[in-house]
Amino acid sequence: MSDIFALGIDIGGTNFRMGVVGGDGKIHSFTRTPSNVFSDGNAEEILLREIKVYLKQSGFEGRIKAAAAGIPATVSKDKKTVLSSPNLKAFDGVTISQDFETALGFSFYIDRDVNFLLQNDIAKLGLSGEKTVLGFYIGTGFGNAISFGGKVYSGCNGTAGELGHVPILGSTDVCTCGNVGCIETRCSGKALEELAAKHFPTDDIKKIFTLHGDSEIIREFIKDLSIPISTEINILDPDCCVIGGGVVDMCDFPKELLMDAIRMRVRKPYPEQTFNVIFTKHDQQSGVFGSGDFALNEYLSQIGNNITN
Ligand SMILES: [Zn+2]
Repeated sequence: MSDIFALGIDIGGTNFRMGVVGGDGKIHSFTRTPSNVFSDGNAEEILLREIKVYLKQSGFEGRIKAAAAGIPATVSKDKKTVLSSPNLKAFDGVTISQDFETALGFSFYIDRDVNFLLQNDIAKLGLSGEKTVLGFYIGTGFGNAISFGGKVYSGCNGTAGELGHVPILGSTDVCTCGNVGCIETRCSGKALEELAAKHFPTDDIKKIFTLHGDSEIIREFIKDLSIPISTEINILDPDCCVIGGGVVDMCDFPKELLMDAIRMRVRKPYPEQTFNVIFTKHDQQSGVFGSGDFALNEYLSQIGNNITN
């Protein structure tokens, strides 16, 4: 197993990260460069060129069995076409072609970045035996991923888990997705930035929970975050929930207040008595590990199927 390698890729709005994930669960040759490399030209061609250069330089040329890339977008169920990518416009509508995979010599998958973050958390937190695991990632937007029996649920079209885009009653705020009233317009890093600019314009936003965690404005923001989270807990009655993301990682983020608000809103007596939350912390490599781990598992299940067939 330790000599089987998959390529993990994480393309965010700012950073483009790559690394090789081994069957031993380790990441090799991790790199991080600016995502603006994709802003000038055909994203698929640039990606192919970048991967080839990376594999040559890292010494993994000819040793990769499969690859996957996470992007902040919705992706088709077959994990080949980017459906909607408002935060990474270069990839909007991009399809991974047969020629692309032939040029690399291995299968290549793309998926929503949060699906790979949940894949990372399930592996790192030892949750693979859990039946239903929900991931809530509050970063620039409100990310969500759902896993049933160790597999991330993708729905009919591949777009399941867009919890940030459930509508709020009566809201007329316009969302980056184009719809009106999405909960992400209130429950996200973007919304926190707007609150900070309006109410605490002279303070460093990084210190907002330290300086103003007790203020009614911030307490209401935290309580609002519990609405999408408790909604999905009430719908799916999960075995475990994972909460993370850039906002949650900020200094003095009031986790207890969030937990109290979730507890208040989940159905009694169940799932209130059993729901379980783990606060997770991601690093630069988490998305790369999740995508590489996914690609590795896809490869292993395919060779397993070939052997049994
Ligand atoms: Zn939306």
